[in-house]
Order: sequence, then C-alpha cells, then structure tokens
Amino acid sequence: MMNFNRSEEQNMVLESLRRFLDAEVEPAFLEHGEGFIPRDKMQAWVKQFTDYGMIKAPHDEQWGGFGMDWLTHLMVFEEIAYTSLDLATPGFINCVGAEMLSQLASAEMKEKYLADVLNCDKFIALGISEPDVGSDVAAVKTRAVREGDHWVINGEKTWITNGEYSDLLICTCRTGDNEISHILIDREEHGYDVMGIKKLALNGQSTAQIFLSDVRVPVSNTLGEQGQGLKNTMKLFEYARCHMAMWGVATARRALDESIKYSQERSQHGKPIAGHQLIADKLATMATQVDAARLLAYRAITLVESGIRADKECSMAKWYGTEIAVNATRDAVQIHGGNGVTKEFVVERLAREALISPIPDGTTEIQKLLIARCLTGIQAFK
Ligand SMILES: Cc1cc2nc3c(=O)[nH]c(=O)nc-3n(C[C@H](O)[C@H](O)[C@H](O)COP(=O)(O)OP(=O)(O)OC[C@H]3O[C@@H](n4cnc5c(N)ncnc54)[C@H](O)[C@@H]3O)c2cc1C
Repeated sequence: MMNFNRSEEQNMVLESLRRFLDAEVEPAFLEHGEGFIPRDKMQAWVKQFTDYGMIKAPHDEQWGGFGMDWLTHLMVFEEIAYTSLDLATPGFINCVGAEMLSQLASAEMKEKYLADVLNCDKFIALGISEPDVGSDVAAVKTRAVREGDHWVINGEKTWITNGEYSDLLICTCRTGDNEISHILIDREEHGYDVMGIKKLALNGQSTAQIFLSDVRVPVSNTLGEQGQGLKNTMKLFEYARCHMAMWGVATARRALDESIKYSQERSQHGKPIAGHQLIADKLATMATQVDAARLLAYRAITLVESGIRADKECSMAKWYGTEIAVNATRDAVQIHGGNGVTKEFVVERLAREALISPIPDGTTEIQKLLIARCLTGIQAFK
C-alpha cells in the first residue's frame, strides 16, 4: 500500500527549507528580477538546495547522494519550485540526468561524472528536441557516424534546458537508419555552441539551442546499449513527467496561497471578497485540484521507483498537474482583479510561467494519446 504521510525527518527538512527559501532565497530572487541568472550565481543557489536533498535524495551514497527516495526529492523540488521555477529547474534536469548516468553509463563514466552532477559542480542537459523534431521523438535527425573508436556528431538541438550552463549533454542521436542511441558529450573535451532562447517567462534559467558540428566523441561515451535510445528515452520521460507534474503543483499551490491572502484582505460590496460565493468556489476548486495533482504525481513516482512500468500514471500526473496550474493561475489573476495583471503581484508572473508547463516533456495532447493507448491498446500516433 502507498503511504504518503511525511516522516518526521522529511518534515524537519521541508520546514527548514521553507524558512530558508522565504527568508533568503525569495528576496534575493526578486531583487535579481526576471533576467538571465549567470552560471556562477545559479550554481551557488542550486548547490545550497542540494544540502536539503534536491538532486541528491534519491541517488546512491557511493556518489555523494543521500540514498533516500524520489518522493523526498520531489517534496523538496515542490518547495523550491513554489518559490521560483527558474531556480528549481536546473536541479530537476541534473537529477534526471544523474539517473540516466546511474542506469546506463559505464563504471568509468560514472566514476568520472556522477558525483559532480549530483553536487552540481557540473550541469547536465538532455538533448532530444530539434527544430523539426518535437512530439515525434522517434524522428530525431542529429546523426552520429562511427569513425573508428569515435562517433562524429552533427545536428542541432533546441529548447534544451540548462543548455547555456551545460558541461555535459546527453545527446539523443540517430546512429543508424532505424536506430537511436544516447551519447554523452563532455563540452570541455568536445565543444559545442549554444545560444539562449527568450521566452514569455522562465528567462532566469537557461533554455537553449545547441549546435553540433563534427563533434568527435569516443564510442565509450555511448550510454546504454547502442540502438536502445528510444526505449531509454521513454524511461527518462517517466522521471521528467513526475517533475513536470510537481512544477504544476507548486505553481498552482502558490497561486492558491496568494489568492487566499488577497481575497481575505480585499473588500468589495461591504465584505472581504473571500466571502463572495463565486470567489469561494474558485478557491475550493484550486485547493482540491492541487491535492489531486500532488497525489497523482506521488503515485506515479512511487510506481516508477518500485520498478513498475508507469507510462499511464506518469502521463496522467503530467497533463493534470500542468493544466491545473494554467487554470489556477488564471483564476488567481481574476481574483486579484486589475492588480493581478501588474508586476506588483506575483500571480502575474505565475500565469506566464504556467502557460509554459503543459509543453515540455510531452504536451498535454501527447500525454492523452499515451493514456488512451494504454487503455485501448490502439495506437493514435501513426
Ligand atoms: C521551456 C521548455 C523547456 C524544454 N526543455 C527541453 C529539454 O531540456 N530537452 C529537450 O529535448 N526538449 C525540451 N523541450 C522541448 C519540448 O519537449 C517540446 O517543445 C515538446 O515536446 C513539443 O514539441 P514541439 O514544441 O516541437 O511541438 P510540436 O511537436 O510541433 O507540437 C505542436 C502542437 O501540435 C500538437 N501535436 C503534435 N503531434 C500531435 C499528435 N500526434 N496529435 C495531436 N496533437 C499533436 C502538440 O501537442 C502541440 O500542441 C522544452 C520545451 C520548453 C518549452
């Protein structure tokens, strides 16, 4: 049976993290503003979060992890994302990247990289998407051609989180006409060019294009079995989708808390607006959806962690968590009235951030197709 009650240890960690985030991180983040956070500054922040279990909680002590569990990591992630998605995202990618290395890398590569990724001494990026390749991940065009003991890689990746910060890129490549593989590129050893992408929100962290031009990488940098890239991408998505679900939960929960506060303080028609039934309905809906989304995400990560294939549950958690964030932030802006569209109130930023969340790691439409395929056994893609 699944038990999502927090342990005493988790409570202590989360309460102390909350105090740290409220007292130190949020004021510094707001002072920085929404512009790009340079690598050193971002790294200093993420490293502090690792002390609370971000990235490290689910990973092996052999590499400096805490040997705990994914649920604890996601709880910590929710708290950081509640304060700032910009600050939570680089650690999310490092954590999923570290899992790929743990599962697929050779002993030498683990020795060389894992501790640095867990400690955020190195940033990792996960490169699947390309200008012509989004939802259809099997269509990857970036090519790795074997020359002796090396791969020579050419292509372009886009939308890559951590791109500008990255020291390492797990690059999804076509290694044969019907074959996709993952290859680790160490930027210091085999350089690649990066260009940041401006978006409607989340410009503090890095989303970037990556240009790969005759990048020569030893064949020993292949992650997992050659040709197993698509299968391993699906495994990676399980972890990533649970994180995206918690992005949504964190955003919606913040929108709810801001709305509760505002609706208690703001009076119209002779009483606090919280006392008007149409506002109360919005708050009750938001609160229920936040809890439902969190439970879906907890169920999904618990199944994944216990080794049970959970495509359907991860897809349910991802679409639901991110879509309720869009709804909740829209209602939060509405509850704030005119103030809701000004920079003075955090719900304005939350609403822009929420609009992004149903896209990465498979759009809502794709999650629904995956769920339906699990239900009916009938493929809706092709
Ligand atoms: C902020 C951000 C961060 C990201 N980070 C990363 C990253 O780190 N690494 C990485 O590799 N990628 C990353 N991505 C890319 C992301 O995974 C893709 O944007 C996403 O998979 C959608 O692909 P696309 O943008 O090409 O849209 P498209 O695939 O072109 O889709 C466009 C629209 O068509 C719909 N659609 C497509 N196919 C179907 C279908 N069969 N049936 C019904 N509707 C369909 C989609 O749902 C969508 O609404 C990121 C994206 C964003 C916005």
